[in-house]
Amino acid sequence: MNEQCQWIQTALELLPHVPKIFLIDFLRYFVFAGVAFVVLYVWKHPFQSRKIQAKQAQPSQFRKEFIYSISSVTVYTAVTLTVLFFRKFGYFRFYDNIQEHGWGYLLLSALLILVIQDFYFYWTHRLMHTRLLFKVFHKVHHESVTPSPWTAYSFSPGEAFLHALILPIVVSLFPVHTLALLISMTFQIVRNVLGHSGYEMFPRWFLSNRILKYINTNTNHDMHHQFFRYNFGLYTTIWDEIFGTIHPEYEKTFNKITEEKDAGVSEEIKLGAN
Ligand SMILES: [Zn+2]
Ligand SMILES: [Zn+2]
Repeated sequence: MNEQCQWIQTALELLPHVPKIFLIDFLRYFVFAGVAFVVLYVWKHPFQSRKIQAKQAQPSQFRKEFIYSISSVTVYTAVTLTVLFFRKFGYFRFYDNIQEHGWGYLLLSALLILVIQDFYFYWTHRLMHTRLLFKVFHKVHHESVTPSPWTAYSFSPGEAFLHALILPIVVSLFPVHTLALLISMTFQIVRNVLGHSGYEMFPRWFLSNRILKYINTNTNHDMHHQFFRYNFGLYTTIWDEIFGTIHPEYEKTFNKITEEKDAGVSEEIKLGAN
């Protein structure tokens, strides 16, 4: 069989997998963003006094975010299919049998994907904030000044493509099992939904811990949506700390939001006692 016929045959073999790949990505977004939305925006929940911004996002914003997120899932599906296509020709370092490298390696590789993505995201994010790229790549995401759980995948197709490139990057660097990808990508959407949820859920003492303070909180990314020029990090604040882009008021704002909650609770207790 000549090369062209092989390409066509491989593409045809992948075709039945298209709905499955789309659904895995879509459901991951829909379930986590949906649960967060129902809990935080529909029900009365314990984080009500932990609202980061006083402003409330409007239903028209949710609808727009949802439509852009469907577009992002379509882009992710296209990139995944392209990677799978080249995998059939021996490109990329996937492996199928977990025993080949063991469970320890699988979990470590999932963590390594997140570490690489954290670095990749920081720099691509900063790049997208340059005058040259902002309008085409990143403007859509920043139209949500008061983010909501639905903002998680609300990107322009160009930005979605840039984020999706993390897949071919990691599978070029080291052997990756599909389960490691699923673990890291599930963590990614959970973190992403929480970071855009509009409410702070981390405990009050979190930033006073010398190590935990480098983990990104919901307030951190929410402040990025409000102020644009600071807090570019995804999972950690390490790169923002190193490159001096952490918002000078970050810790103060976090403390204020979490303190208000405790004050609110004690106020409720006091009222209940009277
Ligand atoms: Zn965001
Ligand atoms: Zn941004």
